[in-house]
Amino acid sequence: MQYVSTRGRSAAQSFSEILLGGLAPDGGLYLPAEYPQVSGAELDHWRTLSYADLAFEVLQKFATDIPAADLKALAHKTYSAEVYRNVRAGEDASQITPLRVLEEKDGSKLVLQALSNGPTLAFKDMAMQLLGNLFEYTLAKKDAELNIFGATSGDTGSAAEYAMRGKKGIRVFMLSPHKKMSAFQTAQMFSLQDPNIFNLAVEGVFDDCQDMVKAVSNDHDFKAAQKIGTVNSINWARVVAQVVYYFRGYLSATTSSDQKVSFTVPSGNFGNICAGHIARMMGLPIDKLVVATNENDVLDEFFRTGIYRVRNSAETYHTSSPSMDISKASNFERFIHDLLGRDSDRVRALFQQVETQGGFDLSGNSGSDGHEFADIGRFGFQSGRSTHQDRVDTIRDVQARYGITIDTHTADGIKVARENLTPGVPMIVLETALPAKFNETIREALGRDAERPAGFENIEALPQRFEVMAADVSQVKAFIAAHTGL
Ligand SMILES: *Cc1c(COP(=O)(O)O)cnc(C)c1O
Repeated sequence: MQYVSTRGRSAAQSFSEILLGGLAPDGGLYLPAEYPQVSGAELDHWRTLSYADLAFEVLQKFATDIPAADLKALAHKTYSAEVYRNVRAGEDASQITPLRVLEEKDGSKLVLQALSNGPTLAFKDMAMQLLGNLFEYTLAKKDAELNIFGATSGDTGSAAEYAMRGKKGIRVFMLSPHKKMSAFQTAQMFSLQDPNIFNLAVEGVFDDCQDMVKAVSNDHDFKAAQKIGTVNSINWARVVAQVVYYFRGYLSATTSSDQKVSFTVPSGNFGNICAGHIARMMGLPIDKLVVATNENDVLDEFFRTGIYRVRNSAETYHTSSPSMDISKASNFERFIHDLLGRDSDRVRALFQQVETQGGFDLSGNSGSDGHEFADIGRFGFQSGRSTHQDRVDTIRDVQARYGITIDTHTADGIKVARENLTPGVPMIVLETALPAKFNETIREALGRDAERPAGFENIEALPQRFEVMAADVSQVKAFIAAHTGL
């Protein structure tokens, strides 16, 4: 299996070659040269597999240059009941992403698929835990090392640190805005005592952190000398790892491969739902893929109108579902590439236009094979938007009706899913975080704290390990160099 760039001007690469990198050299994102197909018979055969064995079957179609026995061992090491142990009462941790039917009426069914039972209580663990093991495996083979450098306002940084902690050949340097994360998120990251994890608390806001990451990634000499890499959401292996749980959700909600299901996905950078799109392109019988956004509705606007308009910082809102607070969707280019019939010249032109003019308009566009946006229905996408009041109302309603507490991002999903139900087609909502992570809004909605999984009760009281640093890129670089010894 070879990987090509959405912009068509980079050499094809293997899975292992793109594993440790980010963007393709031409600025595009990597995609497989063609999507592997899964037949109905194969699907039915997969129905009884454990999550780890299913992950192996799916990954094997993409990571063709990793020996099968090694890949299987990596899948089993990653997807174990011990790693995904933070289940609710009544859920079985060995299922990794257990499903729960919330409601069945008028022939439609609303189902929740738990993706947040990993170490950091958010769905990013599903992919990042695999990435940690894949990185360690690949680096050991090459006798190489990697220094991961990134910025976080919460979920991504902690998922990366928990995935990379204690891994041989890997260090993590993670910037976060000093005193701006929630007490819970701060404690999750800063309580890690592993010597290969470095938390840098920057005196500034998240944008200052991101600017420093950009400055370092533009300094090619420093990057090469210090063996700097990233783990952001455009990483292809992260997307592939996420494809697996769409298969698991489908197989758990159906009894035969002639049935269909739909998914609703709380979305920000389009990484999660992009994996759903890929599963659908592989032949998984998905009816609708519903994009749920919060007030940052770039994606909802596109799927309703065909207009993609990135937001400036004044138009990017800080909401109570903060992991969906995006101004543009970094994985979106992968879908546009497929929508435009894989015409990489047009993809390149459109995303250059995003840089120069802040967006593009496909509403009346006709490409070589017709009017693509009018034809968007064949990709199954629908969308909807949710607000703070919707989240509060939905958290209350789900608590009252089904007796479970959901987090704010999942609440956006349930709200939008309910607007897109089809009789006879189960609707699976992906639960992207546990409520303990976003307790402030739970208190507002329910007047009490969210329950915490065992082991998280006193996390804020644990000793913390971090360095406070000015928003000064030369200081950050000096810190990295001093700690890599390179
Ligand atoms: C990252 C995240 C999202 C958004 O996922 P994308 O892949 O960026 O679309 C939604 N909910 C939670 C809790 C997250 O951490």
